This record gives sequence, C-alpha cells and structure tokens, in this order.
Amino acid sequence: MNQKIAPKELWYGSCSYWTDDWDKLKTTPQGIPVCPHCGAPGFITPEADWLKGAQRFEDEGHPRYVEFLNANKEQCLPRGFLTTYKMWITSQPVTTSD
Ligand SMILES: [Zn+2]
Repeated sequence: MNQKIAPKELWYGSCSYWTDDWDKLKTTPQGIPVCPHCGAPGFITPEADWLKGAQRFEDEGHPRYVEFLNANKEQCLPRGFLTTYKMWITSQPVTTSD
C-alpha cells in the first residue's frame, strides 16, 4: 500500500489554515500533520470537494467567499473562516463592476 497522500488532497486546520503543500505543515512525533503556526490539528479533504463546498457556500449568499479562501491560503486564522470572512468582506471596497 502506498501511504503517501495523493497530490489532489489538501489539509485544513481547526484554526482555518489550509494548504495543498504538505511540506508546509508541521508533523507531531506521532506523525500527525498540524498547523505550522499554532499546532492545531486538522482534516484532509479532496481538493474538488473543498472547492465545491466553498462555491456552494458562496452561492448560498456569501459573496466572494472563494476569493476570500484563496486570499487566505496558508494563513492561520484562529478566529475561524466565518468570522474572518465577515471581517474581510466588510473591509473590501464596494464594487459595481457588473
Ligand atoms: Zn494555525
């Protein structure tokens, strides 16, 4: 059995740190990947599910959520995704591009 993590999986922490570059994560002596900033444990998810979930959340009334996630890739966000997103979206200039 190949125990290596497939390249199309990414990791997200309970602190909202997320990455598809597994080399950026710290590993505990037990071999568990954790956030390199705060040491929070996390979850593994297929990249496609992650993107689909983010898009669905955006479609449910959270504008620019996908953009927000991408802008905060590999950031430790101890406040969590939702609180940080709300702070981020209110700090964005209002656009009328459409
Ligand atoms: Zn963290």
